[in-house]
Amino acid sequence: MRKSWWFIAGIVAGLLVWNVPVVAQTDQLDRIDAIYTLSERDNTAALEQMRALGDELGNTTPYPVLRDYLSKRILLELDSTQVDSAKASIARLRQLAQTQHDNTGIAWALVFEAAILVQTANLEAAVAKLGEALPLARHAGDPALLWQNYRILGNAQLALGRFAQALESYLQCLQYADQQTRHSQMARLRSLNALSTVYSAMKNHPKSLAVIDEALVVAKATESRKMLGTLYINQANQFAFLGRSKDSEVANLHALEVGRSGGLARLEATALNNLGDGYLRAHNFIKAEQVARQALDKYRELGDRGGAAASQCNIGFSLMGQGRVAQGEAQVRDALQQMRESGARSDEEDVLGELGRMYEHLGLFREAVATIREQQTLSSQLFRADREKAVAALQEQFDAVQRQKQIELLARSNSLKDAQISNQRLQQIVILLGAVVTVMGGVFVYLLYRRVRRANLQLREANRQLEFHAVRDPLTGLFNRRSFFELMSKRATDGAGGRREDDVPDGLLVLDIDHFKRINDNLGHAGGDAVLVELAKRLCSAVRDTDMVIRWGGEEFLIFSPKASADHLKSLAERVLKVVGETPVLVGDTLLTVTTTGGFLSLPFSGVSEADCNWEKALQIADMALYLGKVNGRNRAYGIARLLVPFEQAMPVLERDITAAINAGMVELVEVPGPQPVDAN
Ligand code: GH3
Ligand code: MG
Ligand code: MG
Repeated sequence: MRKSWWFIAGIVAGLLVWNVPVVAQTDQLDRIDAIYTLSERDNTAALEQMRALGDELGNTTPYPVLRDYLSKRILLELDSTQVDSAKASIARLRQLAQTQHDNTGIAWALVFEAAILVQTANLEAAVAKLGEALPLARHAGDPALLWQNYRILGNAQLALGRFAQALESYLQCLQYADQQTRHSQMARLRSLNALSTVYSAMKNHPKSLAVIDEALVVAKATESRKMLGTLYINQANQFAFLGRSKDSEVANLHALEVGRSGGLARLEATALNNLGDGYLRAHNFIKAEQVARQALDKYRELGDRGGAAASQCNIGFSLMGQGRVAQGEAQVRDALQQMRESGARSDEEDVLGELGRMYEHLGLFREAVATIREQQTLSSQLFRADREKAVAALQEQFDAVQRQKQIELLARSNSLKDAQISNQRLQQIVILLGAVVTVMGGVFVYLLYRRVRRANLQLREANRQLEFHAVRDPLTGLFNRRSFFELMSKRATDGAGGRREDDVPDGLLVLDIDHFKRINDNLGHAGGDAVLVELAKRLCSAVRDTDMVIRWGGEEFLIFSPKASADHLKSLAERVLKVVGETPVLVGDTLLTVTTTGGFLSLPFSGVSEADCNWEKALQIADMALYLGKVNGRNRAYGIARLLVPFEQAMPVLERDITAAINAGMVELVEVPGPQPVDAN
């Protein structure tokens, strides 16, 4: 009896001794889990609590608890990109696992080391390490570990541009998410989110949207606000890619609402910033300004200087769009300065691109070109700073082909599509060659890959410039002949610009500089060019904003003045003669008096329909008037005000010999004398 009593007591005592640590262990695991769950709402608070818990854990803590503790802590540290602390925690985990001869622990450490490699752009090394971890993880059969393994593998493959492989990895992720006992929904959500990113990278935006929709259902059911917000932001981006700006706005507003109600300031700031981008794209500058200001406040609250600079840019662009150009420019320039100081040079480059586009939108072409040049200079500086020789050679080769493409492009009157297609092909080649260079170091390949993607953007930018140059004369910056032809062909298809009988006609004034050969002889061809540039400037200053000054030929100009009455046209000719001839032109240290001769008339000409007398014929008549000016002593303009006989009768004579037409009383002539010649000395 006594013996059996002792036996029972022994069992009870044994149970107690054995049970105490087991209960404590489950308690601790639950606490770790609770903190990890908290991270879904508040990563910072969770990390704080996790660190506090770490202080409590000591030498007596059982290894399984320590392993769980460290792996969750590392996840939080990685999520908040605290690379150094994460590295220290991983080293601790690896050391513990090795002393315990625990392959599962070692696999966790390998996976986390790979995550760090991904964060520091050592992508190939990350893939290799995950390959090492995979058999250990499979052997351990832990779905959470396998899930992490595939998730990080997918991230590395995505960054390497291996989209099909990334897709496969994320699909594996999804499978292991469902097998997890804890945080299974969360893992599912993250997998779906990753899937949507890879679809987006593959430019399959509808598929990406479908995956996001699926994820949204889970996010709403699990009430994970942070993920819900992230999904809305991604959804908004997909809509934006598809040009569905209204849907994009709605999704961003959802994200904003989730951020506000859940106290997720960063989410709120991102949503506001994206809304601002959207309104800017839609040229809704008032709204853009409102949300950009709110975003700025939020980023400042968060102490996020990069975000603050981005929203300040948006404020600047909104102001420019509202016509407050100087004020907006100042904001953008200030933000650019901040970006420069904080080393965010690639953001700086993007903003310069946007600024160029804004100038273009405002019709400030000079500023647009200057800004785009600034952007390109920065872009090449950035690139030179971070490339190695081998990569440089590769890029040079790429640049050369690209330049060649651009020339062809111009020749084929800027067909952007071709260049983009071949650029994509080059992109593939560069990736392939990159694989070879990778043997020497993965980082540079990654940098190069990013460069090529940026080059795509630059090409688009360059094409915008090409479009600009396609309509402009390179020497004077005036419109070229081609742009006038286009205007006139539009006029023909619109039925003479959709004009009505009683509309004021348009004015045409052709000009030819007097004795330009002498100017060339005296000053050389370069001097002659300088004169042309100066005259172009003067002509632009003499016309209305709506007038078009065209470099018609070598030293011939054409002014097209829409809706110009006869009086207006005459005074335009006066102004032009005056602005050219009144003030001598300074070339180097030579002062030179330059005069010009012109011919002008209205279009439609003298009430004749444009079907009978089109712009080409009208221009021929204006040329005859100019010729008369040359014959009669230059520095003057003649206008043909109207025909005094029917068109069919006048035209054959007018075309051949204007003097005969005048002598026969067929036309009414207006003479505009030029300014008194001044002594250039
Ligand atoms: P006129 O008063 O009769 O017009 O005499 P002109 O010497 O100006 O004769 P014309 O208009 O026929 O000659 C134009 C000259 O302008 C011929 C050519 O050498 C020169 N020229 C044409 N294009 C350019 C150019 O782009 N730059 C320079 N520097 N000279 C040009
Ligand atoms: Mg000429
Ligand atoms: Mg001439």
